[in-house]
Amino acid sequence: MDFLKTPISYLKGVGPQRASLLNKELGIITFNDLLFHFPFRYIDRSNYHLIKNVRTIDEPLQLKGKIVHIKEVGARRQKRLIALFEDESGQIELQWFRGVSWIKSSLKINTTYQVYGKGKLYGKSWNIPHPEISEWDEAKKQNNLQPVYSTTEKLNNSGLHSKGIEKLMSQFFSQWNDNPKENLPLNLLNENNLVGIKKALTDIHFPKNKSDSIKARVRLKFEELFFLQLELLLRKEIGKKKSKGLVFSHIGDYFNSFYSNHIPFELTGAQKKVVKEIRKDFLSGQQMNRLLQGDVGSGKTLVAILSMLICIDNGYQATLIAPTEILANQHFETINALLGKINLSVFLLTGSSKKSERKVISENLLNGGANILIGTHAILEDSVVFKKLGLVVIDEQHRFGVAQRAKMWAKGNPSPHILVMTATPIPRTLAMTFYGDLDVSVIDELPPGRKPISTIHRFDSHRLKLFSFIKEEVKRGRQVYIVYPLIQESEKLDFNNLMDGYESISRAFPLPEFKVSIVHGQMKADDKQMEMNRFVKGETNIMVATTVIEVGVNVPNASIMVIESAERFGLSQLHQLRGRVGRGSDKSYCILMTGNKLTKDAKLRMETMTNTNDGFEVAEVDLKLRGAGDLMGTKQSGLLDLKIADLSKDGQILMLARKSAIEILSSDPLLEENKNLLLRNKMIEILKNKPNWGKIS
Ligand code: ADP
Ligand code: MG
Repeated sequence: MDFLKTPISYLKGVGPQRASLLNKELGIITFNDLLFHFPFRYIDRSNYHLIKNVRTIDEPLQLKGKIVHIKEVGARRQKRLIALFEDESGQIELQWFRGVSWIKSSLKINTTYQVYGKGKLYGKSWNIPHPEISEWDEAKKQNNLQPVYSTTEKLNNSGLHSKGIEKLMSQFFSQWNDNPKENLPLNLLNENNLVGIKKALTDIHFPKNKSDSIKARVRLKFEELFFLQLELLLRKEIGKKKSKGLVFSHIGDYFNSFYSNHIPFELTGAQKKVVKEIRKDFLSGQQMNRLLQGDVGSGKTLVAILSMLICIDNGYQATLIAPTEILANQHFETINALLGKINLSVFLLTGSSKKSERKVISENLLNGGANILIGTHAILEDSVVFKKLGLVVIDEQHRFGVAQRAKMWAKGNPSPHILVMTATPIPRTLAMTFYGDLDVSVIDELPPGRKPISTIHRFDSHRLKLFSFIKEEVKRGRQVYIVYPLIQESEKLDFNNLMDGYESISRAFPLPEFKVSIVHGQMKADDKQMEMNRFVKGETNIMVATTVIEVGVNVPNASIMVIESAERFGLSQLHQLRGRVGRGSDKSYCILMTGNKLTKDAKLRMETMTNTNDGFEVAEVDLKLRGAGDLMGTKQSGLLDLKIADLSKDGQILMLARKSAIEILSSDPLLEENKNLLLRNKMIEILKNKPNWGKIS
């Protein structure tokens, strides 16, 4: 039998009780499971400190010396053991409050010990409570990186604290003398400079030095990420073989006439590149599932319009879904204005469409009279039926789930092409992992002539200066957003907060010179819409709002975005809000107002915002701060249970792993060749319990 499959209870030091605890608390059932319980860090035990310096070091440290005196003080429950410990620099008390008599009997006077613990000031003197202590062993000194394992309170209570787990691990390694299965082919190991599996698994627990521990980690992370990428790429390959897509081979009058006569400006290089990528998808014979990433204001709408025109030129209908009614309206107006001259019929469907309007829309969708349908989630409803749907554009991806995408697939046969547009840049490492089923395009260039937005961080105490600055800008004809955060715990507090702000702003900016609008979540949809429209039309100069304005509103004349309590916002939200300004030709400002006291994270967020306008850079920092799970909202769902790799830190390893996976699949797309047998078997094992595996087994 495979040694690694041995039940953990067979390990010396693990009886039935500990075995069941290990199973319940850490999911460890076999030797193999224990082996894969990796330490999350190491304590550097190569370094020794002098006793006289204990007071200057605020972390656990290591001492070498002798016990010169032992005494028990206090009675019964208050009993303490004090050992006076000495090295050439001085003396310090080691103290124990538990296990006093047992520890006392095991300590020897005048023997050299190594002691590990953290100094504490007690009254006027320093001592070390409950240190780790062991007799000095010259031979053991070699092993100077001590693994630290995660554990739980229950395990702790049965002696399976980190040190206890380390003991089990030593025990295991002293018995383990065969070789584990190597999942990575030799050439992959060599090309990427990776250590073999046995060495990696040994060194990750008991590295001889830092370099060995790093090599072990890199190797294990690589393996994890490599098989993840191989799986994603393989799925995509299999998916493409399965799904037939509409072919739009024709570039016709609508596209040509619009492109040559009606685009008010030259496309940016990035827009052209993306349109080419989409055209290629349209010709491929497979269904397009493409994610288009581009910072706010990068001109994604135009790409959507051009794609829709190609679709219409080929005799199909197109639809565009926006996350809010305000946005849907805005798209409707923009698109009508642009397409008005080329004689297309565009309809708008939202939650507020009247029954009579819906009837007209339905008829036109069914008889093909409608070329384009723009709207909100209302389009997803089963009652919305197209004659020939060819393309679905979804604006602002993060509010649309996979299930909703699938709903749109079902509205055409074969399924329509899907273009998902998002203004929330996703770091490359995440896009490659979370959107494995989508191809990704990026618009990484803003239209020419944009003046970069100046982002400024100001403390609340400077509010008066801020107000006078706003006054000047408004007198010049500009418009201003002032945004308040939503604090989730209390809607009422939020509301009061916002209302207080509104009042003080109304006082500081009095009628008739200034006109202040307010929009918030508790208003009726109609009122919100009306207030928003007044601001869009320039009838009011200042918009006080909660984050309802976050998404997509386009008011080119608005040039100042003030974000109140900016420390309460996450980076991606701050960046989204900033994107509301800088859309016109005037110099724009984003002003982050915060209290004086900021956490380290909050400071970093403010600095990031003031240092860069690049959404991808912002997203990278956001990823580092929040971690992949939080960023993608998958933390709880366990969608991506990585054992050792961390997408927020291991981008480089991920790129290498992906590159290797791509190379292998490019010569052998379904892993059918003999030389890839090892990988094929591993993939079959991985895909066993997942859908779609049939094709490669
Ligand atoms: P987003 O990517 O945020 O959806 P939009 O599509 O709304 O950006 O475009 C923002 C603004 O930039 C719009 O007013 C649009 O007309 C303008 N725009 C788009 N492409 C170009 C271009 N190539 N040159 C100049 N302006 C452009
Ligand atoms: Mg947009």
